[in-house]
Amino acid sequence: MGACRRRGVALVVVCVALVAACGGSDPTASASGSSSSDPSVLSVVSDGAAAATTDASSSSPTTGRSTTPRPPATGGSGDTSASSAPATAPAPDPGDVGTFAAFYLRARESASIELAIASQSGAAPQAGVVDHLVGVLRAVSGKPVRVAPRALGGGSTHWSTPDITRAVDQSSPAQSREAAVVTLLFVHGDYSGDTSILGASVRADATAIFVDQEASAAGLLGNIVDIERAVTTHELGHLLGLVDLFLHTGRQDPSHPGHSRNKGSVMYWAVESDVIGQLLGAKPPTEFDQADLADLATIRSG
Ligand SMILES: [Zn+2]
Repeated sequence: MGACRRRGVALVVVCVALVAACGGSDPTASASGSSSSDPSVLSVVSDGAAAATTDASSSSPTTGRSTTPRPPATGGSGDTSASSAPATAPAPDPGDVGTFAAFYLRARESASIELAIASQSGAAPQAGVVDHLVGVLRAVSGKPVRVAPRALGGGSTHWSTPDITRAVDQSSPAQSREAAVVTLLFVHGDYSGDTSILGASVRADATAIFVDQEASAAGLLGNIVDIERAVTTHELGHLLGLVDLFLHTGRQDPSHPGHSRNKGSVMYWAVESDVIGQLLGAKPPTEFDQADLADLATIRSG
């Protein structure tokens, strides 16, 4: 997310996500191309440009807007801070992008992480991408990470935020303190008709990766593996609260809320946009930078 639409649009989405992540007004991106207007959709984070329409009744995403972070529910008992044992209260409901940062990262919030990978036919993750994400999650959370691959039906379409959250809810297990679930959908088509968006995080636990748009962005460079590694890590970063979607460090790019100003960070806004090749070359960043890692450590120890 992050970017500004094709610039603007992307921003919307991105910002949306950001917004969402940051709490406050929950952005809801509705997709022009799709149908359902699901008020439950909170926000979308994506880079590239996605035009997000707002739903008056629900929180709508707005570009550039950032709100106060709203930490996820902690499990009810405030006495678990020093314990590594997960809280026994029910898992929190997924809200805006970034609000599950503590649920994913803190030992007392969940015991492990399940990386749910739901792929349409012909849209499976590139070689090594899932292993990379597992490594990232293990490193930043210190928790066991289990991969749960699943088949996702349907074909190429214009995915709206409600479409994505519905698919996630139908393909992933329920959230629990035993296993906090991160779901990545690998799909054909695009985000609400915007082909500049390579990936979009639309809820605290839900991201969609648009493989056809990745292939298009890779173009003649043929670096789709590098691009997918970058895009998926970027979206994972949003779900983990980066940048400033959970904390308020003030280091996010003001022009691209929720993103890093550092071109060397995978959280740079262009990573999820079709301008990734133009701005970052054939080898886009695929790792968090030191500031990102410091934020994740802060969240984890909070
Ligand atoms: Zn982003």
